[in-house]
Formats: sequence, C-alpha cells, structure tokens
Amino acid sequence: MRNVRGTRHSLPNTRTLTAIAQDPSIKFRGKILTTELTIPAEDLLPGPCGYRVNVIDYDSTTNTLYDPMTYGEQDSRGKYVDPFAYKPNGRASTARKARHDRSLIENPKFHAQHVYAIAMRTLAQFEFALGRRCAWGSDGHQIHIAPHAFADANAFYSRLDRGIFFGYFAGADGKVVYTCLAHDVVAHETTHALLDGLRWRYMEQSMPEQAGFHEGFADIVALLSVFSLPDVVDAGLDLASGERSHLISSSLLEADALKNSVLFGLAKQMGRELSEVRGDALRRSVKLRPGKPYMSAERYPEFAEPHRRGELLVAAFINSFLDIWLARLSKIGPIANGKKDRSIVRDEGAQAAGHLLTMAIRAIDYCPPTDITFSDYLSALLTIDREVVPDDGEYHYRAALLKNFKAYDIQPAEDADIDGTWKRCDEDLIYSRSHYDSMLRDKEEVFRFIWENRKPLGINEDSYIEVQSVRPSLRVGPDGFLLHETVAEYIQILTLQANELKAALGITPPSNVAPLHRLRIFGGGALIFNEYGQLKYQIANRIENAKRQQARLDWLAAQGLFDAPPEPRPPTGPQSKFADLHRLRVERIPE
Ligand SMILES: [Zn+2]
Repeated sequence: MRNVRGTRHSLPNTRTLTAIAQDPSIKFRGKILTTELTIPAEDLLPGPCGYRVNVIDYDSTTNTLYDPMTYGEQDSRGKYVDPFAYKPNGRASTARKARHDRSLIENPKFHAQHVYAIAMRTLAQFEFALGRRCAWGSDGHQIHIAPHAFADANAFYSRLDRGIFFGYFAGADGKVVYTCLAHDVVAHETTHALLDGLRWRYMEQSMPEQAGFHEGFADIVALLSVFSLPDVVDAGLDLASGERSHLISSSLLEADALKNSVLFGLAKQMGRELSEVRGDALRRSVKLRPGKPYMSAERYPEFAEPHRRGELLVAAFINSFLDIWLARLSKIGPIANGKKDRSIVRDEGAQAAGHLLTMAIRAIDYCPPTDITFSDYLSALLTIDREVVPDDGEYHYRAALLKNFKAYDIQPAEDADIDGTWKRCDEDLIYSRSHYDSMLRDKEEVFRFIWENRKPLGINEDSYIEVQSVRPSLRVGPDGFLLHETVAEYIQILTLQANELKAALGITPPSNVAPLHRLRIFGGGALIFNEYGQLKYQIANRIENAKRQQARLDWLAAQGLFDAPPEPRPPTGPQSKFADLHRLRVERIPE
C-alpha cells in the first residue's frame, strides 16, 4: 500500500469517481450529465483491478487488448486523484466542458473506470441492504468486466465465463455507441451477477415469471440506483420546470406531472439506440395503464414473455416510488407563491429511491430459492419491511407497494397472511439436537435441524435435500436498532419418470412427454432464524404443491423442453443464457 508510514489506521473507507449519471444522451444545457459516485476505497492494480472487480479491456471482435486504466499515487489522505473529474473554471468552462465530454466518450480508460465504479457501487448497495458481504453468481471473488468485449448491440452477464461483457455498435449517425457508458445498463448486468449469487436456482428452467423476475429485478435495481442520484432527479426536474431555479412550482409536483415530465421526460431522453440493449423498461412501464388483468394468459398473452412480464414489476415499483416521493413532499410546505425549495424536492426524491432500492434488495432473503413468482416477491417485500419498520413508518412504504403491485395485477402469495406478509412459523420444533452457535454458520448443522424437523417443516423425504447457504444478516431500522438474522436456504429435487407423477404427486404428465422421460421437480425454502436461533419464517415452495408443479411442467412441455434429452452442459462464451435473453428482448418485443 502506497501510503505514509504510520497512518494506515486513518485510511479512508470510501472514494469518489466520476461516472455518467444516466447515459450520454441525457444532457443539461447541451452537456453530458455526470455525477460523482461514492464507492468503497481500495488499493487498485492497473485495470482497474480491485478485490471484487477486475476490468480487462479485451475486444474479441478486433482481438485488441487496450491499455489498462492506471491511477497515479494516492494523496496524503490515501485517496487516488480521479483524472476524469470535471472542475468548472470561469468563462472558458463551456468549451472545456465540451472537450471533457468528448474525452469521456472517446477515452477507453474512462470506460474502464465507468464500469468499475458502477459495479462497485451496485455491490456496495447490496452489501449495505443485506448487512453482509455478497458473492457473485460466478466462481471466484472477482468478476471480470470487459467494457469493449465485442462489436454488437448487446451486454450480458455470463456465470460460466465469470464475467460481464459490454458490446459497442455504430449508431444512426455513424458514431459508435458504447453500452458500457449507459449507467443503468452497467447496474442492470451487475445486478444479474449479484442476484445469481444470492439465488442461483433462478436460472433454472421454470415458468416465464422466473426469467421475468431476473429481468424485472435487474431493471428495478438499475432504475432506483439512477434515481437515488440527486443529479438525475435534478435533470428530471429541469425537464418538468424548463429552468433551473432554487424554487419549483407546487403544480409541477402533482402525481401526473411528476410521472409525465420527470419520469417519462427522462425516459424519452435516454438514448433510443440503447433501447435495443436495455429494453426501455422505464419508458414502457410508465406507459402501462394500471388496473388491467395483465397476469391473465387469456387476456394478455404477451405478458407471458419474460421481459414484458418484468415490466409489470418495474411499473409497480416506479409508481410506488412516485407515491412515496409525493408523501414525502406533502410534508414540506411552500416557501413562496406556492413554490417549494427545489433542493429539498430533489433530495426527497433521491432518498425515496434509495430507501426503495434497499427494500428491493433485502426482500431477496425472504424469497423461496426456487421457482420464484412476483407474488412471492411482493410478500417478501412486505414482510422484510414489517420486520425493520413494524408500524409502516411515516411515509407508508408498505401500503404504497401493496397498492401499486395490485394495480399491475400482482397479488400477495396465496399462503401469505391477511396483510400480504409471510406467516410466522408457529410449529413446535426441536432445537435441542442442533447447536445454536454452529447453526448460524454451518450448512451441516442447519441440515441436521431440517432433518430432525422434517415432518413439521413439511420436507419431502424422498427428495434430494441440500442446504445451499447459511448467511448472517444485520440490518439497521430507522430507529437505529439492529435486526440480527440468519438466513439459510435449502433446495429439494425429486427426479421422477413422467408415468410416476400421478401416483407420487397427483400431477398429470403433459401429453407430449414420453412415459419414461425423467423429469426434475424442484422445491425448497428460505429459513429465517432470529437472534436467538429460533425459526421466524419458513418461506417454502413445496414439492407437493401440485397446482404449482403442474403449471410449471405444462409450461415447460409446451415450450418443447422435454422433446429431446437435455444438453449435457450449456454452451460457454458469448452465446450464454443472458446473451440469448437480451437478444430475445429485442426480437420479441413489439414497439
Ligand atoms: Zn438482463
């Protein structure tokens, strides 16, 4: 570590790096809107290569390895100088800013900094929300990120390649469009890698809602990350008011005005060429009208497609964000002629987005580890918030989420409590044969607990059972008190021939599946232990849930998944699952 001897104890924990606030097409007075991201500080190797993110600037299309981004010496406070920070400098600043903008777009070293900074910020947001370190879905502690991986309008995470890959392509005006310069695209792909680390069975073949969840969740995290930046909310308010003054008219802060000007205005400005990559979740979800039976396969068959399904989740969240922002604004009185202090309006918006983002991530711990549905996720959101904020707080986040999820036809889980939260575990369980202390960290000990309690926990004894993770979690409530939990995840797999389904589980085999075809049925649950090692919640998908299993098998059979024996191993390289998913987004979504 290059630092002054004897001052290691005072090394900073954070640093700031310049990034593009949304994408290069969002401008203020003709200039690209940039922001400074606060991220964990660390000693960096050329790349940048740090303890969790390793940027390798290799272009497989042109077989070019670009020079790595290298930071100079750290200053006396242990901080690197950000070479891309813009400092306005008097009258010449307009021309200087234009030159600075060009350097951001054209300099591959800035692109390397950009993906590093956003991936690290997204990781830090997950670790803050969950109160522990978070692993990537791919093996290893470091994920590789290639900012100019290939010449194609695509960007994706690949578990097998242990990396995130960003393409580039020629835009309509002939200029190159870099997907790595879109803030939300980088946050979206990083979220896929982190969700895969938390729930890796969500990549299994299942109902379209599971793939839709991966996409919708990645979009939610990306959009709320961007809206938690005050610079972006400011840009939205510019679009609403047409000026930048320290006051803003209250009439611009009504629900429809905010939705149409701030959210839709920003969505319209976002680079249209990048919509091929990002799928335009914001623009499309803002336009989705509430109150329709979107989940009905008969009425809205197009919403069976994973990306369109994911838009329902985004619409529910974006409208909740608006409701909570409005609730916060209603507490601020006007200061002159019906106008409000713009900086407070902006900060309240950014804070509402930040709080919702934390909730969105925390809820993953309270989701079943297999075959997720949007209803499961809604119940998880409501429950985790009740655990941390029992009285629904000053701004009624839970009420806003419940209202807006229902508006997009997403109901709480069928086996949830009357208020939509998961039911607390009230089974009489055996604790005396497992050791409290080791159950907080040891998969074998949790397995023993499950085995001893398999009857009250409803565990199918014929299935393969595996505890996949045991993770501590420490969360801070708004009252400053800490909530300690241990979250364990187990899965169950039952492999049966098609002709055994009826007798074993009461499931009718799909008509196009051969009687001897072997099928895998998944189950599993999340176990949430309180600070005394007592089970608070068992959030499970049961193997014996015939209705759910029947729907999954029927869907997969209709997709032709059982027509041929499964591939021994999915292909590696750029043709991986997310590459295909993102291409499907482009090909299947009608304008
Ligand atoms: Zn995606």
